[in-house]
Amino acid sequence: MVAGLDEKLEPIFQDVLRRNPGETEFHQAVREVLETLGPVLVKYPELAEQKIIQRICEPERQIIFRVPWQDDRGQIQINRAFRVEFNSALGPYKGGMRFHPSVYLGIIKFLGFEQIFKNALTGLPIGGGKGGSDFDPKGKSDAEIMRFCQSLMTELYRHIGEHTDVPAGDIGVGGREIGYLFGQYKRITNRYESGVLTGKGLNWGGSRARTEATGYGAIFFLEEMLKVRGDSIEGKTCVVSGSGNVAIYAIEKAQALGARVIACSDSNGVVVDQDGIDLALLKQIKEVERRRLSAYVQERTGATYLENGCIWTVPCQIALPCATQNELTAKDAQSLVRNGCIAVAEGANMPTTPEGIHVLMDAGIAFGPGKAANAGGVATSALEMQQNASRDSWSFEYTEQRLKEIMVNIHRNCYETSEEFDSKGNYVVGANIAGFLKVGHAMAALGLV
Ligand code: NDP
Repeated sequence: MVAGLDEKLEPIFQDVLRRNPGETEFHQAVREVLETLGPVLVKYPELAEQKIIQRICEPERQIIFRVPWQDDRGQIQINRAFRVEFNSALGPYKGGMRFHPSVYLGIIKFLGFEQIFKNALTGLPIGGGKGGSDFDPKGKSDAEIMRFCQSLMTELYRHIGEHTDVPAGDIGVGGREIGYLFGQYKRITNRYESGVLTGKGLNWGGSRARTEATGYGAIFFLEEMLKVRGDSIEGKTCVVSGSGNVAIYAIEKAQALGARVIACSDSNGVVVDQDGIDLALLKQIKEVERRRLSAYVQERTGATYLENGCIWTVPCQIALPCATQNELTAKDAQSLVRNGCIAVAEGANMPTTPEGIHVLMDAGIAFGPGKAANAGGVATSALEMQQNASRDSWSFEYTEQRLKEIMVNIHRNCYETSEEFDSKGNYVVGANIAGFLKVGHAMAALGLV
């Protein structure tokens, strides 16, 4: 089902498998990139001589540490945390922290690897990194979250810094967690170093439009893909998986541009609301009350809740996977195709399986891969770092405008690169090659480090 590897790249991939046993998500992310790099080595043999691909697949540094903390009953709990500092050729390591029970080294490495190329695509001076913990924030009190974040930062602080490594949020890590992490960093170091974390609150160094950035950015990228096809998002029926940060703001921007968003989900089920998702209600339930999505239908009688349902069976013209990795399989892709879907833009990281991507592309669906389509989040984090460095604070309109320009540029870069490498309109090829070339040339220029 998936494409084969170039004969020069197969041994490199075999080496990645051998050196990183059991890390299936990392293998998947590496393979997807290597599948597109064959023509690059032909055009730029010096990158092969410099062993840039082998070097890029090996993180510069990996930190794994214990996080002990006490729960509200006084019981001692132990979690494991990770920070993978993957590549700093273009700038300080940059990438979020994920708190989810599924987290292990293979997930953090897949995310860190993707982050290298994504960050390169933004055109901003940021390297790639990622971190997280197998801590499950669900059902925890505020006080437990705070104690966990403080314990985690008590180790992490020695590895990060505004010029070294700048973490942010991801699944399970939002403004509340960034606050507790920043507070502990400040306390330990006795430095008000705003640029050490992004996703901060607006009155203590955060950037306007950062909360909205990943979701909005995915819609801006989608708009550009549709424009190429002489189409637009206006009047289209959309479904958005997830109901967290990325999903909520993808829904907000899609609705603002005239789309009808009729479904969203969480890990327990799917809400279908043919009248259009009531965004104010969704925000109240998820952001304010931190309840499960099933609460939506208690307030909105016209909507239905499908316990353990599959969102990709809901007929739509546009699908936006905004929850987690490998949530859209070949079978799901087939049902999207059957129902007349015309575009998929990935708000999440690697949400579509390789087989799923194959089905979508074969059917001629416009497909925006996460490392391009969801780059608006990290791009706006880099804008937050710029504001921190100049002790400035930009307006929402200005920051959103910068985000939009960045997304338009990423789209153009991916599209033109896909054309240059004889795969016009294939954004997977375009994103991988454009991102790789930027980092690869920088690595070559920096010598053997
Ligand atoms: P949130 O924690 O805010 O929301 C995650 C959403 O996805 C929740 O609705 C959650 O449901 C659902 N979800 C998470 N894990 C699973 C799972 N295993 N199965 C089914 N549903 C799941 O995270 P974000 O919105 O920040 O992140 C979503 C995706 O976007 C991730 O892939 C992340 O890496 C990516 N991303 C995020 C960026 C950001 O700026 N936040 C930037 C770029 C990419 P439940 O509550 O039931 O767990």
